[in-house]
Amino acid sequence: MTGTESAPDRIELRGLTVRGNHGVFDFEKREGQDFVIDVTLHTSVARAAATDDLTETIHYGDLAEDVAGIVENNTFDLIETLAEHIADHCLSLCDNVEVVVHKPSAPIQRTFDDVRIRVERFRTTPVAASEGETGTAVPGAGGTDDSGTEAYLNLGANLGDAADTLDQAVAALDRHPDITVTRRSSLFRTAPWGGVEQNDFLNLGVLVSTTLSALELLSVAQGIEVACGRTRQLRWGPRTLDIDLIRFGTEDAELGSRTPRLTLPHPHAHERAFVLAPWAELVGDTRIDTPQGRRPLSAVLAELDDQDISRITSG
Ligand code: ATP
Ligand code: CA
Ligand code: CA
Repeated sequence: MTGTESAPDRIELRGLTVRGNHGVFDFEKREGQDFVIDVTLHTSVARAAATDDLTETIHYGDLAEDVAGIVENNTFDLIETLAEHIADHCLSLCDNVEVVVHKPSAPIQRTFDDVRIRVERFRTTPVAASEGETGTAVPGAGGTDDSGTEAYLNLGANLGDAADTLDQAVAALDRHPDITVTRRSSLFRTAPWGGVEQNDFLNLGVLVSTTLSALELLSVAQGIEVACGRTRQLRWGPRTLDIDLIRFGTEDAELGSRTPRLTLPHPHAHERAFVLAPWAELVGDTRIDTPQGRRPLSAVLAELDDQDISRITSG
């Protein structure tokens, strides 16, 4: 049996039509087309029905906005990937979800009614490596104990009121029932990374303790990016909010993952002062992966002294 036995009810969102830029062809990415999304959340509505209280159920207006944001703010080759991202997000709301992504204007030279992908996903609790997290997970990976797994997240923003966005994002992480923010670094002002001409970034790091899997944590983080109105056109370009998962677990028991959806530890961490400086504040020293093998964070950070970064001490 599945996780649905205790939740025979469902919340269904049908026919959500959102313009997006997904597809393998350049013109699909450039010009975009409509995608139609159906979402079925298997969840009990008994408490909400008994109390007539919106906070006891899933707000379908918010759900529609979150799903639309995932369609609009990403560019994937495949609707399979899009469906997976939407399903991942929904698993932060319920234990079992079905997502159908229709692509009624798919580039097919024949008359057809619809092309659709349907995925069904179940929440995997507690922590353990979930589907797609493969590779170098060490025994006990995730550094799990009763209180959850430690993870280091790096947050950045350079559009709008970046400091306020970062405050809101940290608060949103901490509000999640399965995530506790245990430590928060100072705020750092950093020069943009990746060669795109743009404003400076504000960055900070947080350590969290979570009973979610790494993929679930990433989905929650991406939901918060969307909720904070993330917009962005260019890779490494300006964005309202970026939340990257840098390490899931602790130095001795961290999860490795090599999928495009989730690469852990974060492959660029060792070359970014804006990731390492807040981290050093939070953990003192730790050994991190670099192309030269595991090295002390402090030593790796010391070599990045050409990067323009300053701690914002007040206000
Ligand atoms: P970078 O990863 O170089 O910092 P970015 O943050 O600008 O680039 P995004 O557009 O935010 O990249 O993310 C692209 C994809 O990266 C996301 O869809 C996400 O699934 C994937 N991803 C893979 N590994 C991670 C990770 N460790 N943390 C966050 N996202 C990740
Ligand atoms: Ca990033
Ligand atoms: Ca990111």
